[in-house]
Amino acid sequence: MAEPSAGQEERDRSGELRASLARVEARIARACEAAGRDRAEVTLIVVTKFWPASDVRLLADLGVRDVAENRDQEAAAKAADCAGLPLRWHFVGQLQTNKARSVLEYAEFVHSVDRPRLVRALSAAAEQRGGPEVAALVQVALEKEGEGGGAGRGGVAPGDVRGLAEQIVRAPGLRFAGLMTVAPLEGAYAGRPAAAFERVAELSRSLRVEAPAATMVSAGMSADLEEAIAAGATHVRVGSAVLGVRPPLR
Ligand SMILES: *Cc1c(COP(=O)(O)O)cnc(C)c1O
Repeated sequence: MAEPSAGQEERDRSGELRASLARVEARIARACEAAGRDRAEVTLIVVTKFWPASDVRLLADLGVRDVAENRDQEAAAKAADCAGLPLRWHFVGQLQTNKARSVLEYAEFVHSVDRPRLVRALSAAAEQRGGPEVAALVQVALEKEGEGGGAGRGGVAPGDVRGLAEQIVRAPGLRFAGLMTVAPLEGAYAGRPAAAFERVAELSRSLRVEAPAATMVSAGMSADLEEAIAAGATHVRVGSAVLGVRPPLR
């Protein structure tokens, strides 16, 4: 039997992505309806980490406008490969200060701001780059609520969110856009994504008293987008439900 041609493989992959996007879209629409929310209130961000630039191009052809990555090196290469496509790039991974400048060459949104040093590095990089302000979100780590919980992973304890948000508000080149979270695997919210997302929505409401433009609530992934939308998420970050499980390492 003849090998399938590259064109055929691309059409097959595009068909696969079209079908999985339709399934995710149906889930989002149903969750919005159940919550009495307008579908337009929720933006789907497709997390393309581990997957090649060719998939990002197919997604753009299928109408995806927002994509996210969590490692600068991989993201920078893919964004360069996809230059010219009508895409907004979101950075959602733990970020070293020495990568801030590189990330701002492609990303308009940084969801994972979690310490003052990173605010200063992003602000300096944004000032140097010029152009529109960078949307910065504070990453909330609910597993760090209470005493000594969950060191290691990114994000700030709920009690430190306001202070960091105030630093972003004052930082030139940045605009404070809202909050991001990942449902915790440890601590009081482990296994309770609905409660976790409600807590972050409540934090968001209290911050918006002083920062009314910080409307983004980035929460919900493949496994828990329904709970996030029910709690008021404005942006869901979906990877595997669209692209499949992690491909073999290349
Ligand atoms: C990978 C990733 C996602 C997407 O996760 P899936 O379970 O594949 O949908 C969302 N947010 C962040 C921060 C991620 O790293």
